[in-house]
Order: sequence, then C-alpha cells, then structure tokens
Amino acid sequence: MAPSLTPRQLALLEMLRACDGELSGQALHRRLRQAGVSMGLATVYRHLRSLQQQGCIRCRHLPSGEALYAPLERDVHHLTCLECGHSSELPHCPVGSVTGTDQLPAGFRPLFHTLEVYGLCAGCAAGTTSELPQAEGSDR
Ligand SMILES: [Zn+2]
Ligand SMILES: [Zn+2]
Repeated sequence: MAPSLTPRQLALLEMLRACDGELSGQALHRRLRQAGVSMGLATVYRHLRSLQQQGCIRCRHLPSGEALYAPLERDVHHLTCLECGHSSELPHCPVGSVTGTDQLPAGFRPLFHTLEVYGLCAGCAAGTTSELPQAEGSDR
C-alpha cells in the first residue's frame, strides 16, 4: 500500500519523524508556525486523522486527555504513573505477535495499535514521592 499524501500531510509526517519523542497537535501547530507554514489547528488535526487512517502515524492519549502523535514505525509503549505522571517505555512491544494476520478476523487490515499501562511507579507505590511531611522553613 502506497499512501497518497498531500504536501502538507508529508510536512507533518516529516516533522514527526524529525522529532525524537512524540508531539501533540498543538506542538506540531507551533512548529509549523515557526517553520513559516500557516495551517490552522483544526486543519492540523484533520491531517493527523487522515495520516492515521493511511497507516502513517500512531496516536496515544495521556491521562490528561492530550493526544500525542508519533510515526507508525516507532513502535514504543509506555507505562504511565497516575500519581506523578511519569512515563517510562516498555523494553519491547508485546502486541506485534497478537496482530499477526491469522489471529485477526478475516479481511481486517491492521494499521496501528496502542498499548498503555497505567499504575503507580515504584516511588509512588512506596509512598516516598507523595505525602512528604511539610518541611517548615527549609527551602532546599
Ligand atoms: Zn509516580
Ligand atoms: Zn507495539
């Protein structure tokens, strides 16, 4: 499958590929502005949705509801702490084996998958980073 991308969709894809991490629609919008490209935020999101439908990018949502986008080939999953919000990466993708074609309903063509694990990080689970006693009068 050779997706047919418009120049603007290509620009968004290249911008995501050039970035090490993930970018929100807002961040992409800001970077486009800095690059001298004028594209409304709604248009950015419309192109992002289209890129997802063409299997070019993936998207995940933070507990805050914010969506982060990354190129499809970057198959990374996160463990996110609900207490402090820290995200760490899973060392490998456990989903690839599940989406092997013989395990899916006939005719279904997978484009991308997401996997998010939410919980408490080691520090928060041990209660060491929250509910610290107030240290009166000591600023560090
Ligand atoms: Zn935590
Ligand atoms: Zn994966």
